[in-house]
Amino acid sequence: MSFQAPKGTFDWLPPRSEQVLAIREALAAPARLAGYGYVETPVFEDTQLFARGVGESTDIVSKEMYTFPDKAGRSLTLRPEGTAPVVRAVLQHGLHNGRLPVKVWYSGSQFRYERSQKGRYRHFWQVGAEALGAEDPALDAELIVLGARGYSSLGLTGVRLLVNSLGDKTCRPAYRAALQAFLRGLDLDEDTRSRVEINPLRVLDDKRPEVRAQLTGAPLVADHLCPACKAYHEEVRSLLGAAGVAFDDDPRLVRGLDYYTRTTFEFVHDGLGSQSAVGGGGRYDGLSEMLGGPPLPSVGWALGVDRTYLAMEAEGLLTDTEQEHVQVYGVPLGDDARRRMFLLVDELRRAGVSADMAFGGKGLKGSMKGADRSGARFALILGERDLAAQAVQLKDLTTAEQTEVPLAQVADILKGKVQ
Ligand code: ATP
Ligand code: MG
Repeated sequence: MSFQAPKGTFDWLPPRSEQVLAIREALAAPARLAGYGYVETPVFEDTQLFARGVGESTDIVSKEMYTFPDKAGRSLTLRPEGTAPVVRAVLQHGLHNGRLPVKVWYSGSQFRYERSQKGRYRHFWQVGAEALGAEDPALDAELIVLGARGYSSLGLTGVRLLVNSLGDKTCRPAYRAALQAFLRGLDLDEDTRSRVEINPLRVLDDKRPEVRAQLTGAPLVADHLCPACKAYHEEVRSLLGAAGVAFDDDPRLVRGLDYYTRTTFEFVHDGLGSQSAVGGGGRYDGLSEMLGGPPLPSVGWALGVDRTYLAMEAEGLLTDTEQEHVQVYGVPLGDDARRRMFLLVDELRRAGVSADMAFGGKGLKGSMKGADRSGARFALILGERDLAAQAVQLKDLTTAEQTEVPLAQVADILKGKVQ
């Protein structure tokens, strides 16, 4: 074998690839029913969009971006996430000048140069939804409910929802200062100490056990929320409860950037080891302004398709891994029959009957083997004598029963039989 997929990437092949398509569709379906419109942005963007829109001090920007100069010397980056591109597109096309909130969803590849392991890849897929231009606890709750409905529509029962509030520009500064004061007293490496100064909330998200152990007594944002943020969060929680969406309060759940405000949430699955987050999101009221736009309070999520697949596997929901079958398989005998069969399968497909045929000039025996392997219910055998009679042999492969039908009627007959 000469080439392999690059490290940290893999191929989706049949029949698993059918399931991943179905997962993407299922995760997006609730948002589509809620009036979110599809948006597709380029796979690469101006590097500065992510530097500003994700934040210089994040792992994504500082370590994980695929950045390259194009032939004209522009610095481009393969998108590591979908929110900054969506906000860029909304601002560029003035969608925020119309009806608010702007509701959009996307589905696509993301690229991060990470330490690859199960559930953590360098190329992965997210389905995302964003609602821009409204500050309303019902909108935060709507998005969370839509995410939860996506997972449960796949039959997943082990997805847990964690929620928290990060406060806003009224209450966050005091919390940030209190947290910094606490963190400065810990035994941390130099990188982490400088993170304490730039982006202290992110330290709470540190996954290393030696850091986590020291965070036990850290001040919690929940104890510092201003009355407005507290009321907002209470309303989100109460709407989730009313919708029957169970959640746990996680006072340590954070997103480390100043333009993330108030609601933050994560969907986790306990069957996935340390890569437990299957999706996450939150409110990002300051992002539009960071990207040069007007104030545009917004909320959104991104759901990880690859980890959702793993979660389904962990719950034993992927048992039916049979290859997608065609309904009808054509077996032409001889060159004239092959030309006619080529047209016949086209006619069947246009009539909505899935059909394949033997290729490569195999004889009757080889072609019938192909018919069996295809999983098709019916074979159409077309020999020279049939062709002269304008007929074809229709064989039910489950009963081995064979009947002769006129070529002109075969599409209609099969349409009736396979529906
Ligand atoms: P983690 O803490 O696991 O690194 P994250 O906070 O970086 O996740 P987000 O940026 O919020 O993740 O992305 C949303 C979702 O996308 C995650 O919950 C996860 O399901 C998925 N995801 C993120 N990074 C990867 C990756 N490298 N490989 C596969 N899926 C990923
Ligand atoms: Mg990450």
